[in-house]
Amino acid sequence: MTSYVITPPAETLLPVEGGGQFPVRRVYCVGRNYADHAREMGADPDREPPFFFSKPRDAVFTADVVPYPSATQDLHHEVELVLALGGGGAGLTPATAGALVYACAVGVDLTRRDLQADAKKAGRPWDMAKGFDGSGPVGSLKPSPGMKAGAISLAVNGKIRQSGDLSQMIWSPSEIVAHLSALVRLEAGDLIFTGTPAGVGALERGDRVEARIDGLMPLSFALA
Ligand code: MN
Repeated sequence: MTSYVITPPAETLLPVEGGGQFPVRRVYCVGRNYADHAREMGADPDREPPFFFSKPRDAVFTADVVPYPSATQDLHHEVELVLALGGGGAGLTPATAGALVYACAVGVDLTRRDLQADAKKAGRPWDMAKGFDGSGPVGSLKPSPGMKAGAISLAVNGKIRQSGDLSQMIWSPSEIVAHLSALVRLEAGDLIFTGTPAGVGALERGDRVEARIDGLMPLSFALA
């Protein structure tokens, strides 16, 4: 029996529709994967290959209440399709990468936009803008291949803020998995947030967020 010198960190588990729990290994995110969002952030959507950043595993959780994070005055919502991998690999092609996707879910890439803007200006890492505690609420996983089309939206207090379609993604789920597998070995348990459509904006304490993708369980939480 292993003799731990401290209490081992808790596993991160996400519920799967139909039963069972998905254990999370790593959490990757794609930046600027919808042209209209790339433009609203001042970037050129036509010239960029996909780029990636990470959240800590335990930033991901399923909860009705998300605490408003410290150290920001400008917490933004980004609704995203989340891919959950059921297999691993490296150096994959889009044709082989698609088979790694075990399930999909609705997620929100919560972002301290003020810290991100400061980091961009200073050429510094995004970790504290993107990887804070509670920064990755994710809904129930639905076993399904990587989805390429379907309405994606986010409402705050009943008002639609973000509205798009997965078909507007610059890089498809299988292309994203293939690109990422050229940088790191992927394994079962990895999550990939696939980018957000236009309409990102600020959240306030007390707001109720409803994130939806056609065919998946909606994700709903309040900011405390
Ligand atoms: Mn994002």
